[in-house]
Amino acid sequence: MIPNTNYANLKDSYLFYNIAQKVNRYLEEHPGTKLYRMGIGDVSLPLCQAAIKALHEGVEDQARQETFHGYMPECGAPFLREAIAAYYGKRGVQLQNDEVFVSSGASDELGDILDLFGHDKTVVILEPAYPAYVDANTMSGNSIIRVPAGKENGFLPSPDDLKAVAAGKTPDVLYICSPNNPTGAVFSREKLKAWVDYACESEALIVFDAAYEAFISGDEEKELPHSIYEIEGAAECAIEICSLSKTAGFTGTRCGYTVISKSLRRGNMSLNDMWVRNRTTKTNGISYILQKGAAAIFTEEGQKQIHENIAIYKNNAKVLMEAVDALNVWYTGGKNAPYIWMECPKGLGSWEFFDRLLAEYQVIGTPGEGFGSCGEGYFRFSCFGSPEDTKEAAKRLRMFH
Ligand code: PLP
Repeated sequence: MIPNTNYANLKDSYLFYNIAQKVNRYLEEHPGTKLYRMGIGDVSLPLCQAAIKALHEGVEDQARQETFHGYMPECGAPFLREAIAAYYGKRGVQLQNDEVFVSSGASDELGDILDLFGHDKTVVILEPAYPAYVDANTMSGNSIIRVPAGKENGFLPSPDDLKAVAAGKTPDVLYICSPNNPTGAVFSREKLKAWVDYACESEALIVFDAAYEAFISGDEEKELPHSIYEIEGAAECAIEICSLSKTAGFTGTRCGYTVISKSLRRGNMSLNDMWVRNRTTKTNGISYILQKGAAAIFTEEGQKQIHENIAIYKNNAKVLMEAVDALNVWYTGGKNAPYIWMECPKGLGSWEFFDRLLAEYQVIGTPGEGFGSCGEGYFRFSCFGSPEDTKEAAKRLRMFH
């Protein structure tokens, strides 16, 4: 048996490994030193009360004959599909319940969705990017066009930037993440419309990662879409993958959803029908208990409570942004995303800045270079830490010289 040899083309995911090595070495040399970890991409606040109550009810339901659930529908419990469709409805996006698929999280879907593409596809990844896009496509043997973003376009590349690097290749699939991990940059309606128009004209498919949509709020909200389906034409060219991980603290609980419009067709096939076929073959649905908990997030009370937690993370972002302002360096993100993406001060490289922050200030962030080579010279701070640690990290960052 010859295994999938594409795995040999994967690059070691050295980013978090390298960080862990450097941190461990520092702690061996300076035992007991308190470190301020502003690199984490995981949430730190517990689930909201509405979700906890519903999860408990779900457990109790499973204990009684009259309310017990066996296998759940593969594409999601009708009550949760309806709640998610209604959530989109509030923003003017009309979805049928069966255009919403409940999933066990965005990562799972970002990997599984490749089943719809077939083989030997050309995919476009806007870098810096969440590493799973590159890795999942490398495993499938797809060829990747990397579109580098930079300060000049606010880390929001356009189809013209793609054309400049496509070298005559025709893209099949485009990955767009907004609000973005790692840059925190958010596509405006106008900028996203340019990608939708490009995908519709070229019959490519957009995979839109909306994992951080709930962080969009405030003055600019009218201008910044939470969902690609808010853009005219997206129903004919885009799949949206979303998650409750960052929205509602579900990283360890696991639940997400994927939206595939029934208008989305390629090669005379309905991608919605194909995904129904895929899910009914390859999954047996998501736990009833989790779906009960997830549905509570979409109630009025649940929404109020998750936004109280998001406000705490956003306040962390504000505290860090003020510190970065004081350093007088360029940055993006932080306002409508839980990440701040800053230019390293004094012309330092990503890892040089990392080393100095750790050694001299005991603050840990994530070197931008780990998200694609165009991230060299940049650095990511996460806003998911505790408010106390974030305040101290910001205080130390201000002292950087
Ligand atoms: N997409 C992006 C852009 C992310 O940053 C993450 C997690 O950090 C995910 C997807 C994965 O989310 P999930 O926990 O739902 O698998």
